[in-house]
Amino acid sequence: MKTDQDLIIIGAGGAGLSAAQYGARGNLRTLLLEELSSGGQALLIDTLENYPGFPPASGFDFTQKMEEQAKRFGAQVENATVSSVRKEDGIFVVETDRGPMTTLAVILATGAKHRTLGVPGESEYSGKGVSYCATCDGPFFKGKRMLVVGGGDAACDEATYLSHLADSILMIHRRDRFRAQKAVAARVLANPKITVRFNTELRRIDGDKVVRTAKVVNNTTRKECAEEVAAVFVFIGSDQQTDLVKGLNLPLDDGGYLETDQRMQTPVPGLFAAGDVRASPFRQLVVAAGEGAISAHAAGQYIDEIKGEKYS
Ligand code: NAP
Repeated sequence: MKTDQDLIIIGAGGAGLSAAQYGARGNLRTLLLEELSSGGQALLIDTLENYPGFPPASGFDFTQKMEEQAKRFGAQVENATVSSVRKEDGIFVVETDRGPMTTLAVILATGAKHRTLGVPGESEYSGKGVSYCATCDGPFFKGKRMLVVGGGDAACDEATYLSHLADSILMIHRRDRFRAQKAVAARVLANPKITVRFNTELRRIDGDKVVRTAKVVNNTTRKECAEEVAAVFVFIGSDQQTDLVKGLNLPLDDGGYLETDQRMQTPVPGLFAAGDVRASPFRQLVVAAGEGAISAHAAGQYIDEIKGEKYS
């Protein structure tokens, strides 16, 4: 059974980087493929303060270290866009923009991409005041008033980060309470620079060359008002990247996340999923890293089993 690799991991976020380290350290020929740069959604974390045992660090610095560690153990990390994964005669064929690659096992660690609101002005002003990344774009609006949309951990974390840059922040959330973890939400509510309006939604974004106003509406009173803001930051969750395995008809949970067994294996033997693309009760970098480790370990066991079957 000759293949280019033992293990191909798709996606270099927290799960993929951890899987690469465990795969390579477990002596598997391990290739980690990433479309853009390593780090995944962790790149959006300004201060990662809840990874056990580590002092606060930026998501960028933290995942850079993960990549260095994986490479030190022999993992190859390369750029490629994967279009599909299929299994033929017991081996996987990973189709990429650099041609097909064959492997004994695959770990999908493709994560998720930010959602958009779809309101008028959002796409028009994307990059001109509308943003999905506080660390990337916040500094452009230093000293200005900003709008933050969302009520999860990301919205609260990013609003806290932006409060260090903004003159003031209006934060709106469509429900009457935050979805975020209590400690994260409490920090926002106690922040004098952030005004939170619950039951409030964004209707439209207006401006000239750049964002000038955001029209918001209270969804219980129906009262509308135009808020003068220089930037609109949208943090309303993300969608998991499962398109490249559509052809395999893998089971998904209600939210569209890939279901696996506790070894992170999908119903296709040798195909594993880890991190934000997988159905999981808690999406955190530490969880993604743990799932990456489990999936790489299980992939190693799977490879031993099939080699045993073939060569015994
Ligand atoms: P999330 O937990 O899914 O929260 C998305 C938020 O956006 C929810 O409050 C949701 O409202 C709101 N929303 C969704 N669609 C909307 C729409 N069309 N219009 C207005 N609001 C909308 O997503 P997330 O905050 O990106 O977090 C994703 C995962 O990463 C979570 O598991 C989170 O715990 C984790 N994370 C953790 C940290 C940390 O621990 N510091 C930081 C970032 C992310 P509803 O509440 O009404 O549904």
